[in-house]
Amino acid sequence: MKKVLKFGGTSIGTVERIQHVAKIIKREYDAGNKIIVVVSAMAGQTNDLIQLSQSVTNDFSKRELDVLLATGEQVTCALLAGALIKININAQSWLNWQIPILTEGEHTNSRIINMNVSKINNYLNEGVAVVPGFQGISKNGDITTIGRGGSDATAVALAKLFDADSCEIYTDVDGVFSSDPNKIPVAKKIDRISYDEMLELSSLGAKVMQSSAVQTAMMYNIPLQVRSTFTDRKGTTIFDQDNIDYSKSVTGVAYSKDDAKITLVGVEDKPGIAANIFEPLNKAQINVDMVIQNVSSDQKTTDITFTIKRNDLTKTKDILNTNQKIKYKNIIHNDKVAKVSIVGAGMVSTPGVTYKMFKALADDKINILAISTSEIKLSVIIDEEKTLNAVKKLHTIFELD
Ligand code: ADP
Ligand code: ASP
Ligand code: MG
Repeated sequence: MKKVLKFGGTSIGTVERIQHVAKIIKREYDAGNKIIVVVSAMAGQTNDLIQLSQSVTNDFSKRELDVLLATGEQVTCALLAGALIKININAQSWLNWQIPILTEGEHTNSRIINMNVSKINNYLNEGVAVVPGFQGISKNGDITTIGRGGSDATAVALAKLFDADSCEIYTDVDGVFSSDPNKIPVAKKIDRISYDEMLELSSLGAKVMQSSAVQTAMMYNIPLQVRSTFTDRKGTTIFDQDNIDYSKSVTGVAYSKDDAKITLVGVEDKPGIAANIFEPLNKAQINVDMVIQNVSSDQKTTDITFTIKRNDLTKTKDILNTNQKIKYKNIIHNDKVAKVSIVGAGMVSTPGVTYKMFKALADDKINILAISTSEIKLSVIIDEEKTLNAVKKLHTIFELD
């Protein structure tokens, strides 16, 4: 079998762990598999490099940031190849430009579009190929990175382009859980989960899988295994949803703390006003998530509340303050909010899920500031300090403990 094995930052965070990972790879290789390994940077390294760039300037060039960040994975790639060679496994590191892994899009947020597979495919007859995750090169030959957590996306892209038989994501927990097991100790491991549910959970904050990786896997129907580097326990399979048990309405609870909420008070209540507000935000590539417009009491003015990514807050305020077409009496913003979401394909066929969620939060005096729904998820914005209370409560009332 041809396998792609991806190891995350904690899994290769020390030399001892790299040696341990080398043993896992040896076991797979000795069983007769052809192995491509994808590695992340050592845990914390990417954050450290970002900080280093910010100590030069807050406004560090994104092209140079990519050159800097890509080094993290190059270190682990070489160390792991060296550790494999030491235990008599033929192995070689392949840096992004040697393969090459081609990307498109802007610096720090590119996408893998293609890869030359022939050299590595030939090499797989001789040994293990070790590839750095999270990066590639643009058509101009510049080094690029593909967004935080991007090594998952590299692994899925490799699995597709190399037509691998399996794609295994080795990480620091036993698999995908009903909520973050490091924060909610009663969370349970999920044996099998659909792409749709995993995509919602990842996009809503479950960082165990990066959402664009799940999206690609779903598009090309590549089953993913998420499992632990440190235990032999069976992990989670993420796959096509056909034979999944929908007896539970909710599969998981996720949360994120990267949103901010803005309210424009006293906006004129007439056609075209919302378009005037959101058009310049859209032009500036600011993604608006939830929108609520109050019923106007005097038929003349209303309040509009919406949420954006927290790191877009300054840019958004600047636009709202300076754009002549946007008129309001007052602006209120709050970046101490969190988004808490329940996700489950079974929600479609279970009545009363919405009520149950709102009632549970109300019973615990947790105020809901905004709401958004889709067929298989329900998200609310609440005060950041209530996050874990809300997640625990929802986990319990939807019988996930
Ligand atoms: P890696 O470095 O291996 O890519 P990440 O830190 O990106 O690992 O993802 C694993 C972490 O995701 C876990 O340590 C856990 O704290 C967090 N996590 C959040 N939600 C979940 C969930 N629903 N199931 C499992 N882990 C989760
Ligand atoms: N090292 C990168 C990050 O921390 C990519 C990854 O770990 O997947 O975001
Ligand atoms: Mg990750």
